[in-house]
Amino acid sequence: MSEASKTGNFITQIIDKDNETGKHGGKVLTRFPPEPNGYLHIGHAKSICLNFGIAERYQGQCNLRFDDTNPEKESVEYIESIKRDVEWLGFEWAGEPKFASDYFDKLYDFACNLIREGKAYVCELDGEQMREYRGTLKEPGKNSPFRDRTPEENLALFEEMRAGKYADGEKVLRAKIDMASPNINLRDPIIYRIRHIHHHQTGDKWCVYPMYDFTHSLSDAIEGITHSICTLEFQDHRPLYDWTVDAAHTFHPQQIEFARLNLNYTVTSKRKLKQLVDEKHVDSWDDPRMPTISGMRRRGFTPASIRNFCERIGVTKSDSVVDFGMLEHAIREDLDANANRAMAVLNPIKVTLTNYPEDKDEIFTVANHPKNEAAGTREVPFSKHLFIDAADFEEIPPRKWKRLSLGNAVRLRGGYVITCDEAIKDADGNVVELLCRYDSETLGVNPEGYKPKGVIHWVSAKHAVDAKVRLYDRLFNEEAPDARHVDKTFLDFINPESIKIAENAKLESSLANAKPGVGFQFEREGYFCRDLKEEGMVFNRTVTLRDSWAKLEAKG
Ligand code: ATP
Ligand code: MG
Repeated sequence: MSEASKTGNFITQIIDKDNETGKHGGKVLTRFPPEPNGYLHIGHAKSICLNFGIAERYQGQCNLRFDDTNPEKESVEYIESIKRDVEWLGFEWAGEPKFASDYFDKLYDFACNLIREGKAYVCELDGEQMREYRGTLKEPGKNSPFRDRTPEENLALFEEMRAGKYADGEKVLRAKIDMASPNINLRDPIIYRIRHIHHHQTGDKWCVYPMYDFTHSLSDAIEGITHSICTLEFQDHRPLYDWTVDAAHTFHPQQIEFARLNLNYTVTSKRKLKQLVDEKHVDSWDDPRMPTISGMRRRGFTPASIRNFCERIGVTKSDSVVDFGMLEHAIREDLDANANRAMAVLNPIKVTLTNYPEDKDEIFTVANHPKNEAAGTREVPFSKHLFIDAADFEEIPPRKWKRLSLGNAVRLRGGYVITCDEAIKDADGNVVELLCRYDSETLGVNPEGYKPKGVIHWVSAKHAVDAKVRLYDRLFNEEAPDARHVDKTFLDFINPESIKIAENAKLESSLANAKPGVGFQFEREGYFCRDLKEEGMVFNRTVTLRDSWAKLEAKG
C-alpha cells in the first residue's frame, strides 16, 4: 500500500460505515475530475493522493475524468499535462481517461427527461434580469415569467437551441426547483447554455453545453462513482447535486467535502498561475518556481516526497494554511536519505597548490552517501589547480571562521589539508587566486596533534565540468500573496530573489553523467538536479540544506 492510503480520516470512516451496511456491496469507486484549463498544482496533488489513495486502500478504483464543459478555456495541452502528472505521482486510473464530454448525448437526454417531467424550462431572461430575479441571501427570488411553459414548448425550444437557432446567451435551460430556497444554488440554476464554439473533444457537434453542477453530478452517476470527494466550496452545491441525480432517476453517489490545501508563500489558483505564465512573470507552467506538479518535478521534487507531504497534512473538514516549510521538509528528508553526494563550486576562485607537481593527478575514492554504504563510491580527480567557492575564503576572517584564510589550514573534503600563503588580487582588489600548500601526510588522516578547523568542497580545475546552476527560492516573499492587500495584488509579492544564476559553476567530473531529474546533494550547498528540459549542463536547486526562512520568520 502506498503512503497515500495508509492513514484513515473522516472520509475512510464514512466508507467503513458504508461497507458495514453493505451500501455499495463493498465497492469503492472514486474519481479525480480536473478541468483541463491549466496545469495541476500542489493542491490537486492532495486531491489526487486522496482519491487514488482511497481507491487503493479499499482495493477499489479511481477514474480520471476531465470535466470539460468550458471549451474556450480548455486545451489538449492541458489534458496531456494532467495525464503525465497523475502518472508521475505514481497513480493508475481505471481504464481509459474519461471525459464529461463523452456523456454529452446522455446529458442531453437527461435534460429532455427533466423537461418532460416538468423539472426544467427554457428561460429567456438576460443576464441582468436573471440576477434581479435571483434575489439575495436575505430575500427570496422571483419566478421567471418563462417558468410555466409546457413541457412540449420547452422540448421544442431546447431542440432549437441545440440545432443552433439562437445566439449565445439568447436562451438557457434551467432546472425548476425553488426560487424561494434559502440556498441560492437551488433557485432554478442554469443547466444548459448556448455557446457556438469548437470543443477539443466533440468538435462542432454541440452548440449547447451543460453547466458544471449538472454535468458533474450526472457524470458521477453515469460512472457509478460511490464516493464523490470534493472541496468545501461545494458543500452548498450538495443539495443541487442530490436534486439532480434524484430528478434524473439515476444512481446516487455520495458527495463528501474536505478542506482544500492552502499553502503559504504560494498561490494555488489556476487563474493566477496562468496569469503568472501569460504575463511572463515566470517562464512557463513548468518553471521550477511554480507550485505546479510539472514545475516541482523540474525543480527536483520526487513523487514520494509529494505523496508523503499530502499524507502528513491530513484530510480535514476545516480550512487551514500549511507552512511551505513542510513541503520543503518533505523533499529534504527524501533527498537526504536517497540523493548521492557530489561537489560543485558555484562561485569559483582558483587555488594553486604551489608544492604539488604540475603533471601529477590523483584519484580519490569517495563515498556517495555518508549514511548508506550501498550507494557505493565514486572517483574524484585531484590536481595542482583547483577551484573553491569564493565564499570559503576570507583574507581577514571573522571570529570562529572555519574555512580558508591567510595563514590558516582547512581540509579539502575527501582530500588533503591545505594552508593558504597568499591571495592574488586583480586591479580592483578582488581576490582572483589563492596560492596554497598541501600537506602530503594528511590524505584521509589528521597527523598527531593537528586538526584543521574546517572542511570545504573543491573541484579539480582541469577535470571540472562547466555548468549553469539556477538557485531557486520561494516565488513569493509574502505569506499570503493571495489575501486582500491594500493597493497590491499577488504579483506585487513576487520574490525578486526567487532565481539567481551561478553562470560559471564548476562541477566534479562525475556529474557530467548526471541524469536529468535525479537529485544530488551538492556538499555544503543544497540539493540539486539536472534540468529536465534544457540541453547541456544546467542544474536547478531543489531546496537548500536548511530552512533559512524559518530563521527569518523567527526574527520577525
Ligand atoms: P478551477 O475550478 O478554478 O479551474 P480547481 O482548482 O477547482 O480550479 P479543478 O480542475 O476543478 O480545479 O480541480 C480538480 C480537483 O482538484 C477538484 O476535485 C478540486 O476540488 C481539487 N482541488 C483543486 N484545488 C485543490 C486544493 N487546493 N486542495 C485540494 N484539492 C483541490
Ligand atoms: Mg473546479
